[in-house]
Amino acid sequence: MNNSTNVDPSELAKFSELAHRWWDPNSEFRPLHEINPLRLSWIQEFTRLQDLQVLDVGCGGGILSEAMAREGAQVLGIDLATKSLRVAQLHALESGVKNVHYRECSVEALATQTPAQYDVVTCMEMLEHVPDFESVVQACSRLVKPGGWVFFSTLNRNPKSFLFAIVGAEFVLNLLPRGTHEYQKFIKPSELAQSCRASRLAQHSIRGLSYNPLTRRYWVSRDPSVNYWVATQKNAP
Ligand code: SAH
Repeated sequence: MNNSTNVDPSELAKFSELAHRWWDPNSEFRPLHEINPLRLSWIQEFTRLQDLQVLDVGCGGGILSEAMAREGAQVLGIDLATKSLRVAQLHALESGVKNVHYRECSVEALATQTPAQYDVVTCMEMLEHVPDFESVVQACSRLVKPGGWVFFSTLNRNPKSFLFAIVGAEFVLNLLPRGTHEYQKFIKPSELAQSCRASRLAQHSIRGLSYNPLTRRYWVSRDPSVNYWVATQKNAP
């Protein structure tokens, strides 16, 4: 798949429409704000961020990009939703975080421009929004330096994830707008693992993100049946 076609314009439109709400912790993006400290500390279990070159793929409004920059990383966030990138840029400016930059660029295009440039690549909650997730995995692998870390998070595909991530989150609890996720784009851990192997990314750890709707608390678990996170490391040449 070539660089310009691995994008679903209706996906970008969904995020652009909500762009002004990225930094409202009570908006549709509330789940991302709530899980952000959890994923930041999970990443830091594997690598420090201070002074590293970090790429955040599908950065949206920059919730994770900015948090990693606050930890001392030099961060580039990329996305294809223009409005979200403007919001991200403005927020960084307002909060005085200087070591984060944003660019409208596909991950595949960046991989041809600047291969093996990053110590850490994060690609969170993005793979389930693209037509060809394997092309994104491959590009992330090209962008990271040998020995560097690539972190993915996405949604599993099974009856439970349909029930929790779509019926529960979009229709019962109203955590996310209806239509945020399409079941057929969800990715089984085995499919992601295969794609990582093919791209010379060694999988070190898989974790699940669990949620209790009564207490409204998220926690990192060993159950990857709905939302899951994968830590991978690029093989040395
Ligand atoms: N990674 C961020 C945002 C997740 S929301 C976070 O976890 O906080 C999914 C993001 O993927 C949106 O910002 C959307 O614009 C972006 N996206 C969807 N398709 C994309 C594509 N083909 N290339 C780059 N970004 C894409």
